[in-house]
Amino acid sequence: MNASLCVAWFEEAARLVHRDRDRLTRLDAEIGDGDHGTNLDRGLTEVRKALAESPPGSPAEVLTLAGTTLIRRVGGASGPLYGSVFRQMGKTLQSPVTLAAFSAAFEEGVVAVERLGKAALGDKTMVDALAPASRALALAVRDGVGVREAIEQAARAAAEGAEATIPMRARKGRASYLGERSVGHMDPGAASSALFMEALATVVR
Ligand code: ADP
Ligand code: MG
Ligand code: MG
Repeated sequence: MNASLCVAWFEEAARLVHRDRDRLTRLDAEIGDGDHGTNLDRGLTEVRKALAESPPGSPAEVLTLAGTTLIRRVGGASGPLYGSVFRQMGKTLQSPVTLAAFSAAFEEGVVAVERLGKAALGDKTMVDALAPASRALALAVRDGVGVREAIEQAARAAAEGAEATIPMRARKGRASYLGERSVGHMDPGAASSALFMEALATVVR
């Protein structure tokens, strides 16, 4: 991966989140405060602007700038949470950016969000999409799967992880205030995480 592929990832993610903004906001209206789509759409618009204004020279710098921008510009839980994923990835990503290096940094990013959000698998959060994606990627690396197929597998795992949040009862974030009433709805952050992975699959295709 080079810097421009990493920029393309955020541009595609911004496009998908913009396209699905109303769906994400609707999901959040069901179990939260109905701002996830607008929060993330605004944040990713700012990320695109920041990347265009001062084009970074490496994938690590792209990730760090994107993460910092999301933390600064997104009011709401998801900004600092996504921001910490990307900043941690930027901090730990080794050069050259092979699939193995990317996978290792992604694992670190997921650990960072789990720590910040004190969330684990099954709590009905973005972790339920990100952790399976990270695991699928690590397994693909272990098995020597090619880049495209590996990212496809990670994107599928994220989408399945998001689907799997529907029957869960939320234990973290605003949705947890609803208790049992959070059951039966997809977690909006897990849905947007699946979009991030779908965007990555699109740009490596
Ligand atoms: P807010 O809840 O502040 O309005 P958003 O609506 O933008 O923020 O984001 C909500 C999403 O953030 C949730 O759907 C969930 O995926 C994620 N989230 C919230 N709290 C946590 C947490 N403690 N750990 C992990 N993810 C969380
Ligand atoms: Mg919200
Ligand atoms: Mg909010």
